Amino acid sequence: MDVTHILEGLNEPQRQAVTAPVGNALVLAGAGSGKTRVLVHRIAWLIDAEGVSPHGVLAVTFTNKAAAEMRQRIEALLDVSVRTMWVGTFHGVAHRLLRMHWQEARLPQNFQILDADDQLRLVKRVMRALDVDEKKWPARQAVWFINGHKDEGRRAKDVVVGDDLFQITHQRIYENYEELCQQGGLVDFAELLLRSHELWLAGGDLLAHYQKRFQHMLVDEFQDTNTIQYAWLRVLAGRSAHVMVVGDDDQSIYGWRGARIENIHRYGQDFAGVQTIRLEQNYRSTGNILTAANQLISHNTDRLGKKLWTAGEAGEPIKVYSAYNDLDEARFISERTQAIIDSGGGPDDVAILYRSNAQSRVLEEALLRAQIPYRIYGGVRFFERAEIKNALSYMRLVHDRHSDPAFERVVNTPTRGIGDKTVEAIRAEARARSVSLWQACQDAVAEGKFKGRLGNRVAGFMQLVDDLAAAGEDMSLHELADFVIEASGLMEYHSKERGERGLARKENLEELVSACRQFTGELMFPLRDADVAETSALEEFLDRVALDSGEQQTDSGPAVQMMTLHSAKGLEFPVVFLAGLEEGLFPHRLSAAEPGRIEEERRLCYVGMTRAMRQLYLTYAEARRLHGNDTYNRPSRFIMEMPTELLQEIRMSTAVLRPYGIPSRQSSSLFEEPVAGGLRMGQRVNHAKFGEGVVLRYEGSGERARVQVNFAGPGAKWLMLGYANLETLD
Ligand code: ATP
Ligand code: MG
Repeated sequence: MDVTHILEGLNEPQRQAVTAPVGNALVLAGAGSGKTRVLVHRIAWLIDAEGVSPHGVLAVTFTNKAAAEMRQRIEALLDVSVRTMWVGTFHGVAHRLLRMHWQEARLPQNFQILDADDQLRLVKRVMRALDVDEKKWPARQAVWFINGHKDEGRRAKDVVVGDDLFQITHQRIYENYEELCQQGGLVDFAELLLRSHELWLAGGDLLAHYQKRFQHMLVDEFQDTNTIQYAWLRVLAGRSAHVMVVGDDDQSIYGWRGARIENIHRYGQDFAGVQTIRLEQNYRSTGNILTAANQLISHNTDRLGKKLWTAGEAGEPIKVYSAYNDLDEARFISERTQAIIDSGGGPDDVAILYRSNAQSRVLEEALLRAQIPYRIYGGVRFFERAEIKNALSYMRLVHDRHSDPAFERVVNTPTRGIGDKTVEAIRAEARARSVSLWQACQDAVAEGKFKGRLGNRVAGFMQLVDDLAAAGEDMSLHELADFVIEASGLMEYHSKERGERGLARKENLEELVSACRQFTGELMFPLRDADVAETSALEEFLDRVALDSGEQQTDSGPAVQMMTLHSAKGLEFPVVFLAGLEEGLFPHRLSAAEPGRIEEERRLCYVGMTRAMRQLYLTYAEARRLHGNDTYNRPSRFIMEMPTELLQEIRMSTAVLRPYGIPSRQSSSLFEEPVAGGLRMGQRVNHAKFGEGVVLRYEGSGERARVQVNFAGPGAKWLMLGYANLETLD
């Protein structure tokens, strides 16, 4: 059989890995060195040259998208269908097993998967039943406890508690939660793996069957496997399977979720005759990008150590842009992207990567304004996120009680005991009378149609909306948003969700307040009367959001890719923007306390940089409004850790002069250059009507000069310098 085409486009060490004798092998190599490519070619090789049936292959990837791609590439190489091959994520494969073997797994056939929301709700129910005080023992923490133990392969009965009250309490919750799930046929994410691992441990025919079947297993991104995944793999492999794993310790970024880099060492000990292959040539990035990334990661101490070089050209320097604030940063990125498109590049050549989801909104708005198509990968667009839609629904009801979609969305969010049946009855009533859901409710309450406590609950909801509206009458748009989010209970409801998710939802809600504040600022400019009625600001805001979400977001066609650094793993793009390189944001403030976490953040930065093929931009903002607060951060230490000679600073195109210099600049001297009219960036000023504020930005000159001032009360506003009569303070 002619197998030469499978070896085409591979360098020597890659070939060695692809054609290695059937057995266990570890490919340990840096970013962009062809690990994933090796895995694909290895599978093709096994099938074509070693005569392995696709049926006997199990390949584990990091995302479902990667799995689909892998299948396609193998089919392209082989020209045969590999439908019977199992390719998927650990969770996907475990889920499939449980669906096939629900009986052996002691699950009902129609078992239901719990997402994080559902899980949290269930845990709360358990806690209430156990009379555990949620103020003392937050439900989120209990969820962490449960999932953490599941990820380590421990059932409630296996948790060693001793006489520690924390352990005892949580163990009890875990135990009862476990029982409730079992009764209801409910399976959370961690349970998928734990339960299918137990399928293996039960041994018997089932395990024997799959051990016989999957004689060839391959795992990509091995550095991010956790304990239960590793154990799962090991049992399944048994004594006879051949396991090839590929990974890069420098790209381990899921330690916070239980991933264990040590699995790389364990693999070498637990599996027989492991051949280790190193790949050192990078094919993805220019020399400059690679050198800078290598230098950055060399600041980590705990490394296996790898060489990485490229035969490609040095390419352009890495460009660093220091923005005044997040808006300026977004503007810069969208302008540069436009320039790339104008010079013949596709929007899909460009990726914008960020540390935190909350950063995306300002970036999205800049792209929308510039009419550049974009897509958020592995996430939902800001205004389409559940928590944001909930908040907007309350705001919509404040504005218009008769909006049925808004009503439907929040009548029982946060949960207030108005169940599906009730909502269905309201719907029927509204249909019959041809009135809005709100109207139908109002009538039903008046006519006493709801039985018992239900009537109070429905009336309570309506009262809440009326109260929000009444209180909001004297508020500006952002105050209203803030008030609605708190008073509706949404903030409390969402921020209780597990770990990062809850934090992200909370941050997003705060970000909505920022969006409103900024929107008001824009409304005021340029010639709008400052006394525009705020109700109409609300209306305009809601319309703008509706329009924004209806347009642009094309599912087809080339688009700029936006995603968090975590979801960029394994991908590559000609041009990459890394946004928000600021201390506190990236590295994230939560990581500051633990040295291990800083190293993980640095690996995350390394992952981000090494996504770039030709051009890499690093941007940071001196002032950023995030989660509703203005912060002034220093540039990220990661920028300082790159070779200065490879960095090129980009200057502002506007008329404003600013001092610049990495890394010598002190944050206190950020705003020293005068701009005009005796004002500086950061200058504190007083306005007759708006009160005290700080100068954020300055544009134009002479009669058309205008400044953006962030006022303590009304927020950011653009003012014509000639008319504003600003009084300078300090
Ligand atoms: P990461 O660590 O980011 O997951 P990786 O090690 O998996 O990266 P790949 O994605 O497999 O690397 O390869 C990086 C890029 O280099 C891809 O565009 C791939 O097609 C290309 N490439 C890999 N090996 C070769 C080769 N021998 N010749 C030409 N191009 C190659
Ligand atoms: Mg890869």
